[in-house]
Amino acid sequence: MPVQRRRSLALVVGLAAFLAVAVAGQAAARFEPAPGTVVVRDDFSRSEVVRFLVPTGASIGRPEIEAAAAAAGVPDRGLEERASGRRDVRELRLDTSLTVRSSFLSRRIDAARLRRLDVFHQNRLVLELHPWATVVGGDVRPLGSDLLFRRYAVTGPADLAYRIPASAMLGPLVLVLLLTLVPYLGVRAYTGRVAASGAGTADKVHRLRTAMLAAALVLPLALTAVWVLSGLVLLPGLLVGGLATTGSGSAAAQVVVTMLLLALLFLVGLVPVLWAAGREYRKLRGITVTPASRRGSARLALAFGLPLLLWLPLVAVPLTGGLPAAVRLGLQAAWVVLVLVTVPLLAVRVMPTRPLEHAVRARLEALVERAGVRIREIRVLDTRSQQVANAVVMGPVPRLRYVLVTDHLLESLDQDELEAVVAHELGHAKQHHVLVKLGALLLLAVAVGVGVALGSPLLRSVNPTVLVLVLPVLLVLALLLVQGGLGLVLERRADEYAAGLVGVDPTVRGLERVAEANLLKRRTGLLWNLLTHHPGVAQRVERLRARQPHQRPTPPAPTATA
Ligand SMILES: [Zn+2]
Repeated sequence: MPVQRRRSLALVVGLAAFLAVAVAGQAAARFEPAPGTVVVRDDFSRSEVVRFLVPTGASIGRPEIEAAAAAAGVPDRGLEERASGRRDVRELRLDTSLTVRSSFLSRRIDAARLRRLDVFHQNRLVLELHPWATVVGGDVRPLGSDLLFRRYAVTGPADLAYRIPASAMLGPLVLVLLLTLVPYLGVRAYTGRVAASGAGTADKVHRLRTAMLAAALVLPLALTAVWVLSGLVLLPGLLVGGLATTGSGSAAAQVVVTMLLLALLFLVGLVPVLWAAGREYRKLRGITVTPASRRGSARLALAFGLPLLLWLPLVAVPLTGGLPAAVRLGLQAAWVVLVLVTVPLLAVRVMPTRPLEHAVRARLEALVERAGVRIREIRVLDTRSQQVANAVVMGPVPRLRYVLVTDHLLESLDQDELEAVVAHELGHAKQHHVLVKLGALLLLAVAVGVGVALGSPLLRSVNPTVLVLVLPVLLVLALLLVQGGLGLVLERRADEYAAGLVGVDPTVRGLERVAEANLLKRRTGLLWNLLTHHPGVAQRVERLRARQPHQRPTPPAPTATA
């Protein structure tokens, strides 16, 4: 079996095994309370959710529960009926607060009030707590736990106190440390082996790139799994809950803190691996690191990181509450436009760029003019530390977009080839590929939303832990297929545009020279292409050559002879 197919197969098998373990493990731990049970789940930072599992056919409904909440003196933030996923029970959820006292790592819940909420008088009260929490006061009996919750039957009327021992965070931190250290050592050993192998430089460079790509794909997923499985997922709630009061504002703060902590986690996990592979890569290509090139790399990293941070408020907007849905949607749309407009202006200032030399600039500007694409400026991007030969068009808005060509590209290509590469980028701009990709992302989000809404009775019957583990993997796969597949199509379209603007020959030569200058592997597998959003150069050249005959002007038709 070819190596590429073997790798794809290993990836699919690994993924299937992960899903199977997650589903099987969690199906076993699923909590099935009997009808008539009152379940209190403590979210720590937000509020307590009280679930009334009403037996089907019982006369107890909304009014009885609202009356019980009022009699118990429990503030009622709204009661909603939910599909329980079971035939024998209906579920009514009361969003409330039963907490008497709470501090950063400890809480006290008023069991007497909780008891008064037992509208069924069956004495079946269940308390769901973080797996990290330990009950230190009150009469409770452990009922078992799963990844997200530890459950207790409440047996007495006394106040319930529980706390989260600081040592509970040690295990997760050790796990994170292992997930940073083990891949780092693995990649270091692998890059050492690659360097020592007898393969050609281009082949070695490709293997290093594969290692970096695999790490960039697998490590975030693995770290997310650790984040959920180890209970670190509770940390934002603890941090926000320790500082803020309950309410929708704290929910938004929690989302932002979660995203920031996850970003930090990914950074801590990925940087050592990428550094190890990057060091070997520089050695192979004979790149020496200077203080100036290090500054350049830092500025590039900042230019990539800043726009990502700018998307954060978008995630938190839906949780701010209070505002009508239409206003929230309007705010989000306005934010998207603002980010799209400002990111290129911001990025070009953060990146190490400089003006283009006059003669080259005049020629490229003539090309831009000929293409009818409106841009702000063409600039040179310094990539001394990586030696990247590439060009990019930044920004979807005419007049507010930049074309960047890298220093290495200018050194490696002649004028015609350079024009072809820039023409390819102009093709992306002319056909609004950034917006097309964004639109596809939006469609995917809508599709997921509709899917979740339609499948919600089914989803509710699935253990939440399984969803938390499985959905991100499925989402990443969908993203990979949709964005990767679309990326491949758009690259082809941009190639065709370039061939139409400057001719097939310069376009092919440009592609070949870029591949040479970047030590790219010429023929690549589908998985690699999907991940990088680019077909292999060999495939691109073949496609352009294949369409060449149609490009030639058709010869005049032979005159009919009598
Ligand atoms: Zn492209």
